[in-house]
Amino acid sequence: MKDRYLKFVNSPFGASVARSIGLPRPEVLRRYRADQPEFGGMAAIGAGPSPALFETLIDILGALGMTGVAHESARGWLPLANSRGAMSGRFEPQAPDASASERVQALIFDGTGIAESTQLRSLYGFFHDGIRSVAKSGRIIVLGRPPGSCADPHAATAQHALEGMTRSLGKEARSGISSNLLQVAPGADIEATLRFFLSPRSAYVSGQAVRIDAAPAAPPAAKPADWRRPLEGRRALVTGAARGIGASIAGVLASQGAHVIGLDVPPAKDALDQTMLAIEDASPSGGAHAALVADIAAPGASAEIAAALAAMGGIDIVVHNAGITKDRTIAKMTREAWDSVIDINLSAQERIDDALLAQGVLREGGRIIGVSSISGIAGNLGQTNYATSKAGVIGRVRSMAPVLRTRGITINAVAPGFIETQMTARMPLGLREAGRRMNSMSQGGQPVDVGETVAWLASPGCTGITGNVVRVCGQSLIGA
Ligand code: NAD
Repeated sequence: MKDRYLKFVNSPFGASVARSIGLPRPEVLRRYRADQPEFGGMAAIGAGPSPALFETLIDILGALGMTGVAHESARGWLPLANSRGAMSGRFEPQAPDASASERVQALIFDGTGIAESTQLRSLYGFFHDGIRSVAKSGRIIVLGRPPGSCADPHAATAQHALEGMTRSLGKEARSGISSNLLQVAPGADIEATLRFFLSPRSAYVSGQAVRIDAAPAAPPAAKPADWRRPLEGRRALVTGAARGIGASIAGVLASQGAHVIGLDVPPAKDALDQTMLAIEDASPSGGAHAALVADIAAPGASAEIAAALAAMGGIDIVVHNAGITKDRTIAKMTREAWDSVIDINLSAQERIDDALLAQGVLREGGRIIGVSSISGIAGNLGQTNYATSKAGVIGRVRSMAPVLRTRGITINAVAPGFIETQMTARMPLGLREAGRRMNSMSQGGQPVDVGETVAWLASPGCTGITGNVVRVCGQSLIGA
């Protein structure tokens, strides 16, 4: 489904019409393209007292070819950067009419050492000076600690306060700029996550707080030889892969090196075959992908799926994407509409996971990613069945994370907002336009935005991320 308004207001004629009558002008978001550099330019660094992540930041920015320039709040950055041989300098805030090349690609604030509410003022200093200096489709990243990891209630309070700051910045920044909070536990590995949030791959993820724990007992994952293909050698199952978001998830996982098994219902067999062929054509590891035809709600399906995957040698990544809607207000909803939505969207996921885990088909270090929805967070008129199922996906992620941690398996969910697919194309026009515009990016997301987010959560570097729900919603007002 095309967003004609977005296209119109970004044409020369449309832009002048929008300016003259004051229409909103959503930015065309910069997304990842293999033929364009993923990273570059400057990141302005700010900090509260006792920042813990400067060394890590200096090393990661260096690996990305980005220059960290220090705001006056980031005391200690310059000598440390110099001692590590990193490119650096002082941050000069730019005037609002500064050219693109004078702007910074990111504002990064290390708030890990903030231990009481009075120290939150350091946020004001940095973002007051810096917010106008960020390039279009730039990034704001605040680094803090998980409040639950702070022994002192004053520190936990101040760390929780970072959420309000980060979310408000996302609403104020505009121009396709995202703002996210990474709650980093001491000893956690943040490289894969920092890369994702600095990259155009996270274009439609904003207003999120992601908790990164130190990896459990298992040794830390080796860094990928090629960061564009961190899933090399992993096998991934994607349900509902014939079209829409599932096809995109399958495509992104394959482009990052995974061997993908796409699953869909018998009536979607032709579409599934076409999707998998297209993925094979686009993928240099061609030939390793497969189509699996099954209705996940059919009796015995979970055992059959587990047997098929066991015969292939096991699986590393499971993405529960298949889902349906049967919308009606509860008074008018049939029992069948209730039962089938709960069964396909939630109970079938449980049955498949149970079968894969019981037989050890999901290998150690595995990843489970459920596709929830902002309806599961906010509830929605006419979607009691759907919202119940999608809230259940969130409950499952939170309750299973501690159980799976001992096996080195992570479980997380993505919660898409309004994504341009056949599902949303069927919505009435008024609702569709509202869904598209009621977020900080003033536009719907693309299936690839969900695919990129799933691929990040599936990556070996995300061992410390489990039990999280990451919204892919452009910071939608719904459920915010
Ligand atoms: P879609 O209807 O375009 O695709 C869903 C796919 O799942 C289809 O290929 C379908 O055949 C498959 N499927 C359905 N029932 C199945 C079953 N019993 N067994 C196997 N496969 C089955 O939907 P989409 O928009 O791509 O949505 C994908 C997921 O994202 C769903 O879980 C949906 O709830 C969720 N989601 C979508 C949006 C959005 O805006 N499109 C927003 C939030 C969440």
